[in-house]
This record gives sequence, C-alpha cells and structure tokens, in this order.
Amino acid sequence: MPDSPTPTPPLKGRGFDSFDVFTTRPDTLFGASFAAIAPDHPIATAFAQTTPGLADFIAECRTTGTAAAEVETAEKKGFDTGLSVIHPLDPTWRLPLFVANFVLMDYGTGAVFGCPAHDQRDLDFARKYALPVERVVAPSPEEASAPIHDEAYTGPGRLVNSRFLDGMEVEQAKAAVIARAEAEGWGTGTTVWRLRDWGVSRQRYWGTPIPIIHCEGCGPVGVPKDQLPVVLPEDVSFDIPGNPLDRHPTWKHVDCPSCGKPARRETDTLDTFVDSSWYFIRFASAPADKPFDRATAEKWLPVGQYIGGVEHAILHLLYARFWTRALKHIGKIDIAEPFTGLFTQGMVTHETYKDPAGAWLAPDEVANGKVIATGAPVEIGRIEKMSKSKKNTVDPGPIVDQYGADAVRWFMLSDSPPERDLPWSEAAWRFIQRLWRITEGADGEGEDRDLDRKLHKTIAGVAADIEALSFNKAVAKIYELANAIEKAPATASRATAARTLIRLVAPMVPHIAEEAWARAGEPGLIADALWPEADPALLVDDEVTIAIQINGKLRDTLTAPKGAPKEALEELALGSDKVIRLLEGKAPRKVIVVPDRLVNLVA
Ligand SMILES: [Zn+2]
Repeated sequence: MPDSPTPTPPLKGRGFDSFDVFTTRPDTLFGASFAAIAPDHPIATAFAQTTPGLADFIAECRTTGTAAAEVETAEKKGFDTGLSVIHPLDPTWRLPLFVANFVLMDYGTGAVFGCPAHDQRDLDFARKYALPVERVVAPSPEEASAPIHDEAYTGPGRLVNSRFLDGMEVEQAKAAVIARAEAEGWGTGTTVWRLRDWGVSRQRYWGTPIPIIHCEGCGPVGVPKDQLPVVLPEDVSFDIPGNPLDRHPTWKHVDCPSCGKPARRETDTLDTFVDSSWYFIRFASAPADKPFDRATAEKWLPVGQYIGGVEHAILHLLYARFWTRALKHIGKIDIAEPFTGLFTQGMVTHETYKDPAGAWLAPDEVANGKVIATGAPVEIGRIEKMSKSKKNTVDPGPIVDQYGADAVRWFMLSDSPPERDLPWSEAAWRFIQRLWRITEGADGEGEDRDLDRKLHKTIAGVAADIEALSFNKAVAKIYELANAIEKAPATASRATAARTLIRLVAPMVPHIAEEAWARAGEPGLIADALWPEADPALLVDDEVTIAIQINGKLRDTLTAPKGAPKEALEELALGSDKVIRLLEGKAPRKVIVVPDRLVNLVA
C-alpha cells in the first residue's frame, strides 16, 4: 500500500460527502493512487469559484473538445484540486483529487479512480504528476513485486499487495470487491453498454452513395426525392488506389438542386454496416415506393434467429439494435429489439502452408508435406481463419461440379468440426445414391410397429435438432432411419417411412428431395410441403427397463413389456442369474414391485 500523500484537506464536509466513481476494474482498488473528475463535474464546477487556476483549466479543457477520439489523442492533463478523498476500502487512506481532461462527464459517472500499474492512461498520468505506481496484479508469483516501467500490465493474473484480495484471480477479485461494496452500501455491480462513435462514410466505391450535393453557395443540399436513388456509375476503374468516384470525369458534377449552379456530389459512400443495420426490416417488407411498410414489417419482426460469426457481436449487432431503437424512437416501427435469438457459429479454419521461399500455398498445391509441383518441403503453419491472403481456403467448386451440391451440403452438415481439416469423402455422395434407392420405395402391406416407432421418433428428433441448430445430430438420426428402412420387410409402414424420409432430408438436400418427391407422384413442390407430424403415441417405447434391487441396491436390470403385471415382473426378477446367485437359492422375505420401474427384493 502506498503511503498517503501529503495530508490535504478532505473533500468530505465541504458540501460534498461523496461522489460516485465508475470503474471496470474494481479488483485494482488497492493499486489506486488518485481520483479524477471531469472538467464539467458538479464538484469541479463548485470548486472552480474558490480554487485559483481551476476555472482557467476547465476553460482550457473545453477548447479541446470532448469527443472520444479527441480525448483519446489529446495530451492527458490534470489539475490537482488540493483536496483528497477517502479510499472506499480503507478510511485512513486518502487519495488526491484531480480534475482531468480525459474524464468524460457522459461516460460512467464522470469520475474515475486511477490505478497506474494496470491502465496505460492512468500510468501516463501518474508519471506526469509523480504519483505512486503500485502493482496489484501479477501474472506469476515471481512477478508479485516486478516494477512497472513504461507499460501498464493489463493481462490476467492473481492479485498481490491487495490485502483480502491477495491470491484471487482478477474476475474473482472483481466479484469480491463488488460483494463488499454492496454489503457495505457504497457501491454496486452493473453492466453498462457503450456504443462507440461510428463514422459511417467511406472513401470507396462499394457502398450506398450518400445523397448529398455540395454547393458553394448553399452548402450541403439533400438530393431531392424524385432524383433518388443515386446510382453508382459503372464505368469506373480500380487501377489507381483511392476512390474511383472522386476521379470519375462526370458523375460528381451536378447542378445544385437549390440554386441551379454547378455543384458537386458527395463521393464518399456509406459504410456497408449502414445497410446491414436495417436490411432485415427490408427483407420483411420490400415495397417499391418506400423503405418498408410498417404493418408488414411489424407482422414478421423481430428476427427469431440471428446466425453470425462472433466478430459481429460487438459491431453489427450493436449498430442494428441502435438503428432499430432509433427507428422506434422516431415512430417508424414499433419494435424495440431486432433479434430475439443469437447463434454464433465457429469460424472456418484450415492449416496454412508456405513454400521454402515463404510464399503461401493453397491446400491443393500440397501433398504429403511437399509442394506437388516442385517436390520442395512445405512449412506447415498454424490453423487459422480461412483467408484468401493466406491461401488456406478450400474451394468446394470442383467437388460440387463432380458430385453435386447436395452431396457437399450433406457432407458439411454431417460432421465437420471446423477446427479439423475437411478431407472430402465420398460417403456423403454414396448416401445420396442410397437415398434415391430407398425413397423409390415399394408398396407393401401390413404394419411394422417397430419401424413406425422409429419413423416417428426420427421425425420428432430431427425437428428438435434442426431447431437447436444441431445439424450433425439430425443427420445421424436420418442415417439410422435409412438403415432401419433398408432392413425392414416390405410393408405399408415401410412405404410410408420411405416417403416421409424424403421430407426429412428436404431441408438439407433440397435437389434430390424435389426429384424424389416428384417421382413419388406427390403434388406440388416439397419446398411447399409441411413438415411431417410425429404421432405422440408412437414416441413411447413398448418396452421398459426395470431395475432389480436387492435390499434397495441395484443388482441387475431387465426389459419387460410396458404395463406388465406385477406377478410377471416378480417372476422375471427371480429368474435373473445374478439374483439367484446373490440370494444363494433362498426365497426373498418380501418383494416390492413398482410397475414399469423396479422390483425390490428384501432378503
Ligand atoms: Zn446551391
């Protein structure tokens, strides 16, 4: 613990008993060496009247602006108020109070505590104003007192020099401080969201044109409605770096819609995120004359299931929510949240390869650790997210050409743990062939209750798996059903199962399913057909597993028809080899039978 700095008059008792500090690192409280408030914080305003120099400092801060980007790049400056505040975890510990230009009134509470060892901004500030720098998180026990130099330590580790927090992991320590703050009533844990400033204009061709015309006399003028949409020119060249719209000879030259004098179109385009922030509304309703029809959009939205990579979670999803809320706020649509479900799928990854000269190689240029063309050894690199620049992409095109898109789809859904290589196997293609034969079906007569049950369990199971996005599990169940159909004798049940199988595979292999559907003489497209209904009566097994206990201890199990009478179960239990052996030939003193569940023999 750093010693308290030179005694300074406490803030307490001067009109302010306390103020709220917002922090994302309550775990580092024992590394605090100062507190800072925003220039427009009420305390700063109040003391500006009586503290020489403070009013000038606040005025100076105002001139540098308070946008996040401006604050981040501006030199960090502080003004020592000469006052001190009491550390929340130790009433004898005083921290000097600064007014600082990097603390924003509209972020958190407009007040922070500084822990220089574990926050770069705080460290820069502490060095400038000669404040203590005390490490409270160490990546290893040996580094418990390793000095902090020019770089703050923001990584994981355990707490050190932190009294009751010592030895805890960072997350554990955060929870411990929050728990104590809540118990003592001086703080509370909270989750806050912050949308960063979003510059929506881009200096590039792809993107929606920004419908603004710049006029020397009138300033920026909106493109009149009857001239919308602004269409991008197609005769552009990408030979030179930069925005081709800016270089285009005619596109940007237009007359001002307001005064008619020569003017200039905005050549920046909108960030593609702008479109993806509301396209789902347009998907739900796409009239020709306006962005969307409110009633239709509200009928379909919100989107039930959003599927995307985790990289969407911090930008696109927040922008889309912001956009939706803004539309609601201005009364354009009555939907607060655009998506009700989120599923983040894994990335498609692959090993990377390099030749001896260090050039990237594509997987199909490599075999057995050598470059196919030259025989040179290949350097096998890390498994990384597929990217064209590293050439670690697998192109499904040639496989689609040879085996068809359905086979590739089936293969990808069957099982492709994304971290594993995707060696194409013909198994998927062979299954498509089998599917074609099985679904040809031959009519038969009579029932096959086992197959009926298998079919209805598969219908229910595949539906649930698809809902849960567990496609590989659905595929596994379909394989089992296909096997059962192939083994079953020709009955009416078998014909029904074969025909239903077509509907079960349709979402995954639509082409072959449509063909099989048409061949079976079914009306219309399978794409329009309803999902088959599972009969609840057939989801229940006819047989149950019965536990056999001796003196309450599980000794054996047996399979019996559902609803078998007590006497039958008792007889089956007493006939078990294990029971005979354990009872040593004696009869039990008492037999308790719970139908469909268990037989307990009291010896
Ligand atoms: Zn004008």
